[in-house]
Amino acid sequence: MVGAPRLFGTNGIRFRPGVDFGLDTVVRIAEAIGTFFATSPILLAHDGRLSSPTLERAVASGLLGVGLQVRRAGLLPTPALQYGTHKLGYRGAVMITASHNPPEYNGIKVMSADGVEIPRPEEVEIEQLYADGATRRADWAHVGTVTDENRVVETYLDGILDLIDRKQVRARHFTVVLDVGNGAQAVAAPYLLEELGCKVVTLNGQVDGNFPGRGAEPTPDNLAALSETVRATGAELGVAYDGDGDRSLFCDEKGIVHWGDRSGALLAQHVLKRQRGATIVTTVSTSQVVEDVALPLGGRVVRTRVGSIEVSRRMLELDALFGLEENGGCFYGPHLSVRDGAMTTALMLETLATQKVPASARFAEIRRYHQTKTKFPCPAERKEKAVAYIAERARGRVDRTDGVKLWLNDHSWILMRPSGTEPLIRVFAESDDPKTLEAMVRKYAHVVAEATKK
Ligand code: MG
Repeated sequence: MVGAPRLFGTNGIRFRPGVDFGLDTVVRIAEAIGTFFATSPILLAHDGRLSSPTLERAVASGLLGVGLQVRRAGLLPTPALQYGTHKLGYRGAVMITASHNPPEYNGIKVMSADGVEIPRPEEVEIEQLYADGATRRADWAHVGTVTDENRVVETYLDGILDLIDRKQVRARHFTVVLDVGNGAQAVAAPYLLEELGCKVVTLNGQVDGNFPGRGAEPTPDNLAALSETVRATGAELGVAYDGDGDRSLFCDEKGIVHWGDRSGALLAQHVLKRQRGATIVTTVSTSQVVEDVALPLGGRVVRTRVGSIEVSRRMLELDALFGLEENGGCFYGPHLSVRDGAMTTALMLETLATQKVPASARFAEIRRYHQTKTKFPCPAERKEKAVAYIAERARGRVDRTDGVKLWLNDHSWILMRPSGTEPLIRVFAESDDPKTLEAMVRKYAHVVAEATKK
């Protein structure tokens, strides 16, 4: 049986409102989501995008038409909505966000009662309901109502603070530069840092759906202002969030921005020291630095397909302590198994507070590997064949968790995987030796290029 066409990508439904489809379609998608949930109340929130308040109304309409009760939480970071859903006892939640995508995009994420994005099979159920038009319709006496939910930010911040050694962090009076990137963490993270006794210098602190500061996606290449401000103010730490505040990148007191696998490894080490032998979940594209820090502390490292939902769901299955992605997504199980920029920042401050050495010295303890990331155009319909072509030519230790991951030796690997959202094959490679890395990438770039043309 051929299933319904996919609406959900790697991370929710993403589209350009009014370009890819209009509000009528959004209402029908929301009807399918509401039919899937069947019971209420449903928590609804949105990020700071220009189209978000309009989409919020369209999604509310769809849910109400099915007969559900909707509680509007307004502008929130995604992890705040997720924590609120779980902690305040909602049946489920919908978040209007396109995370780090350009301003013209928006999207819809659906959470279960546990606050985590629904698993893949449930996405397929919603797609099927939508494709079949098999959505419920409440009669005039049973349409839902909308009321406001104002407790989420406070609940979220209290939940983070409860897990942190506040006294130890406060005693350090850290100065932190916070680049919220015109995104949704503006309504939560600055207050968290104040509670932790930090002096906060804010960059791009106004919520603005055009993301005029440095765009919605923080990368080591667009955080020059953060680095400069950290150095100019003598701050101990800099942090930058993506548009919906679930991912964070850090910069040390010297202004050096570190990729997410290095900051995630530092935090994995921190939490494993308190809970030796616990499980850490990460994707196949994350650096082997995770094993470097976890194995000496008795940690078990479990790797998943790429995508935050894969990490979240596996963490729940295994009752894992911590999860991480190379893009700056960190998941702290005792809080909630979802990516969370503010929770991650609090853990970073906590680990810095445990030792009287600067952040740069802590990062220096994390082994540095040579890495390459590149991508090859590949039409969506050819992706599967391309991956099969690559797999046939891969020799040695091969991992097929996601695409093809090939180990050339104990410290050198190359991952070639189809993008979940774009017509691309993505290539990640890592080695402890730059020459091995270069040779490996050259050889397999050729194979991938051939594969995308066959
Ligand atoms: Mg995000």
